[in-house]
Amino acid sequence: MSNDGHTLQASCWANGKDLVNAQIDLNKCVATSLPSKAWLSTIASIPRRHASILFQLRTGHIALNKHLHRINCVDSPLCPACEEAPESVDHFLLFCPAYERARLRLLFEGGPSTRGLHALLSDRKLLRPLLQYIHDTGRFKRTLGDLRLPKEPTHEADKARPVPRR
Ligand SMILES: [Zn+2]
Repeated sequence: MSNDGHTLQASCWANGKDLVNAQIDLNKCVATSLPSKAWLSTIASIPRRHASILFQLRTGHIALNKHLHRINCVDSPLCPACEEAPESVDHFLLFCPAYERARLRLLFEGGPSTRGLHALLSDRKLLRPLLQYIHDTGRFKRTLGDLRLPKEPTHEADKARPVPRR
């Protein structure tokens, strides 16, 4: 590890088998600002695998081909869905033509701010539509399964919950 204080160790699974270690340059993170308290509390309130993918999207160190290629986990940085551009976080979320349908749903459910990477990765209100989008693309289905957030507990569900006995 370099001694500039801006790198950290990371690892990735390639082909579900090989663990590859890599240096992460924090200066090249997608979201350059430190996460806000509100964002961190959001992250703490959702299931771990959802929190993990959000953190990876923010840092850019995620199992998308641009990053995987940089750390020698795949042969090509190209997006496997459209094969037109490197599969970066912004390509995956904002531009890939193969996910146009999923992106329309994201726009419908989250509004115009879903067109900006910063809002998409930091606005608590966009969390559910964002995770729905990621799920709809199917990009992480093999490794992470269903990525939709569990339904929020309804009033009816609260009423149905048994009252603990003393
Ligand atoms: Zn693409």
